[in-house]
Amino acid sequence: MALSNIRIVLVRPTHPGNVGATARAMKNMSLRSLYLVEPEKFPSPEATDRAVGADDVLQGAVICASLDEALKDCHLVIGTSARMRRIEWPTLDPAAGANRLVQGAQHGPVAFLFGQERTGLLNSELDRCHFVVTIPADPSYSSLNLASAVQILAYEIYRAALAEKLETVREPREGRPASDADMQRFYQHLEEVLQQIGFLDPANPRFLMRRLMRLFNRAGLDDNEMNILRGILTATQQGRHKT
Ligand code: SAH
Repeated sequence: MALSNIRIVLVRPTHPGNVGATARAMKNMSLRSLYLVEPEKFPSPEATDRAVGADDVLQGAVICASLDEALKDCHLVIGTSARMRRIEWPTLDPAAGANRLVQGAQHGPVAFLFGQERTGLLNSELDRCHFVVTIPADPSYSSLNLASAVQILAYEIYRAALAEKLETVREPREGRPASDADMQRFYQHLEEVLQQIGFLDPANPRFLMRRLMRLFNRAGLDDNEMNILRGILTATQQGRHKT
C-alpha cells in the first residue's frame, strides 16, 4: 500500500487544536504525511495536547511558506469544500475521491487539500485541484470542523486502501505523471502564448484559464505529453516571430 505517498495539506490553519486533532485522525488511519501551509501557530502545546499519541505525526509535519511548495511534486491534488462554487469544479463523493488518491499514490505523491477554518479554500487554490470532494451534510449547516472533515476523508482513504490491497488493479502508465510544478509552468506558458496570439484578453483572463486548467487537469498528463504540449507552445511562439 502506498499510503506514505498520500499527503494531507492544511492551508493556513488558524486553530492549533485542529492541527493536533488532524494528526490524530491521520495516524488512526495509517496516514503520516502532514503538510502545513502558513500555519498561524505552530508548534503549539494545544496542538500537541490534541494529538494524543500522534505527536510523531505533528513533529514530522512539513511547514511550507506557500501552496506551491506543498504541492510541487504531487501529480494528483484533490481539494475539499463544504459548498458549491459559482464555477463548478469536477466533484467526487468522499469514497470516489479517496479511491482516486489511493490509485494515484501508486505512481507518486498525491494530496488532499483542506482550507482554513473560516474561509475554506480560495478559488485560486481550487484551480490547483483535479477534483473537489464535498462531504454530504445538512444543506443548511454543511461546514464541518476542519479535523472532522480530515477524519472522514482519512477513513475513506483507509477503506479504499484495504479494498485496493484485495483487488490490486494497476493502471499501466507510459511516463511519469506530470507534477503540480510541471502543470503550473505549463499554465503560465499557455497563458503567455494565448495572450501573444490575441486569444486571451489580459483584462479578463481568469475565466478562460480556469476552464483550460479544468480541461488539462482532467486529462491526467504524463511527462511525455507535457513535453509535446510545451513543444507546441514554443513552436507557436517561434512561428509568430517568423512571419
Ligand atoms: N466556509 C468554509 C468552511 C471551511 S471549514 C467553506 O465553505 O469552505 C474548513 C475546511 O474543512 C474546508 O476548507 C474543507 O477543507 C473542510 N470541510 C468542512 N466541511 C466540509 C464538507 N462538508 N465537505 C468537504 N470538506 C469540508
